[in-house]
Amino acid sequence: EICAVSGAGADDLVGRRFCHNAGLVGMVVENHHPLPYRGQYDPKRQVVFSKRLNPPSMPSLLVLPLLVHEKALGTLVLGSSQRGAFGDDARTTLEVLASHVAVSLANARMVKRLEELATTDGLTGLLNKRALIDTAGHMIRSAERFEKPVSVLVCDIDHFKKVNDTYGHDAGDIVIKGLGTILKRQKRDTDAVGRFGGEEFVVVCEETDSAGAILLAERVRTELEGTTFHANGHAVRCTCSGGVATFPVAGRDWDALFKATDEAHYASKRGGRNRVTAWNPRLSGASAA
Ligand code: GH3
Ligand code: MG
Ligand code: MG
Repeated sequence: EICAVSGAGADDLVGRRFCHNAGLVGMVVENHHPLPYRGQYDPKRQVVFSKRLNPPSMPSLLVLPLLVHEKALGTLVLGSSQRGAFGDDARTTLEVLASHVAVSLANARMVKRLEELATTDGLTGLLNKRALIDTAGHMIRSAERFEKPVSVLVCDIDHFKKVNDTYGHDAGDIVIKGLGTILKRQKRDTDAVGRFGGEEFVVVCEETDSAGAILLAERVRTELEGTTFHANGHAVRCTCSGGVATFPVAGRDWDALFKATDEAHYASKRGGRNRVTAWNPRLSGASAA
């Protein structure tokens, strides 16, 4: 795939994919040596990407491998409107440059991977607790600045210990993953969703008032209630209880908002489970079920 392009007339190449066995690029990836040999490029005879996909026609072209630890991450394809632009001197310099590019790319990929590992919950692929609290903090500050609401929703599976005890921990994991998928599907793109621990999930909804967050919570609750999971040869069904609290009424920072969400969530548990409760001042100070 062509990942990035710079230069006139090349914009529509970005994102194009090609079979790598037909041209110079494929050979460079395979053999780890720059091509064409000695920079002798003939656009009429040589294929760069594939027979159907070529760069804008130029008299000089050079394909350099991006090598890290003997592995080709890809290639750097350089073109010039000057004839003979990639002579021996230029090539030596460009090869050094390409190796720096390759190392930088590999480092950037590694940083991205480490960031993913540090912010993602392994079981569900959702944000982990720390990453979610970080995101919530940003959303609350932005809500404060623009005087918009932001809602926090806590969602916890009812009697989950029974699922583990009856069907086994593996079955429990399948249900946790399943609720994660439901949350991902039901939330908006701008909402952040994370697994907070065990079978407890939190969604932070930007520019969403209490009524909007209750709608989301009800959609999630209804979908879970109607879902049958298949685990270890058993059909497993679950419900969940939700609590909703909205900035600024229920709290002005994360700690206060989360506490309010938790109070509302426990009211749902006390009230019989499989329901959603929005925070109200009467719930403050009520103790856990
Ligand atoms: P309630 O309706 O009051 O929420 O009852 P509950 O049984 O769901 O109670 P609670 O939320 O306290 O129980 C959570 C259980 O989840 C306890 C723990 O054994 C289990 N658990 C925590 N993490 C995992 C996990 O990663 N996988 C599985 N399968 N179970 C987990
Ligand atoms: Mg539970
Ligand atoms: Mg729980």
